[in-house]
Amino acid sequence: MKKKYRAKKRIRSSAGPLLVAVLLLLAVGIIFNFERITGLINAGKVEDISAFSADVGALPDYSGSPYCTVNGNKAQFDSVLIDKARKGSFEDYSSLDKHGRCVGATICASRETMPGEGVSRGDISSVHPSGWKSGMGWERCHLIAWSIGAEDANDCNLITGTHYLNVEGMLPFEQKITSYINQTDNHVLYQVTPIYDGKNLIASGVHMQAWSVEDKGRGVNFNVYCYNVSPSVTIDYKTGVVVELDSEGKPMQYEERNYILNTNSHKFHYPSCKGAADISAHNRKEVKARRNDLIAQGYEPCGICEP
Ligand SMILES: [Zn+2]
Repeated sequence: MKKKYRAKKRIRSSAGPLLVAVLLLLAVGIIFNFERITGLINAGKVEDISAFSADVGALPDYSGSPYCTVNGNKAQFDSVLIDKARKGSFEDYSSLDKHGRCVGATICASRETMPGEGVSRGDISSVHPSGWKSGMGWERCHLIAWSIGAEDANDCNLITGTHYLNVEGMLPFEQKITSYINQTDNHVLYQVTPIYDGKNLIASGVHMQAWSVEDKGRGVNFNVYCYNVSPSVTIDYKTGVVVELDSEGKPMQYEERNYILNTNSHKFHYPSCKGAADISAHNRKEVKARRNDLIAQGYEPCGICEP
């Protein structure tokens, strides 16, 4: 009892310095967040390319920054699109290409296109974008963010992307748009185009450009390419297979474990998974193996037990 009382007293007596410390931490947090959003703090240098090329080979390789700028970070929209945006809000999602891949989306964003207050996100788990493989850390990544276009399970607006692309690459730019619209009630012409190398099912990155309409780009004007990468993995962009890397940059070697294979669907499960219990004896195989070896053999981790 005595101990408890003393501890309490100590906290109370240090309330002043504690408050100062909390305020300092808050200030540092705000500054850090601001700098992150404005892109001043990046692991790598932000490079600029003068014009956008859909040829992935012509883009600078990822070197630590989640994005590079294009055309000095100034949007390049043609007059037809700008004239269309001057007439009001619109949303245009291109159809999938012959490989089943998202092609791009253009929006004249405003309060009308944004989710209204009290509207909640719908379920998008039914969409399997090109290259989607469950259990490998992929995210369904909106071309036009939900916060801007309020699109849920629109398969022309979702690509297979890394959490890094979503959060470090795209989100700060999306936030520029939403906060500008919330402050001004103006419109923003915004285009997102996934860029693929050849017939790859996974986009190498996304080209994003935006321009505020009423004030001719004074409020929002950016032109960037965000990398669909993740610092601690290597990605097979043809197939969507992700290999985790260890601290030395070598493919992670997992320990041998017991798994249940479905030799028909080529999924593997933990023995405890209810999905594994449903496999017919004909297709069921119990193995002791390394996770990475199963993936190398073409097996995909089950989406339920995520082995
Ligand atoms: Zn499973």
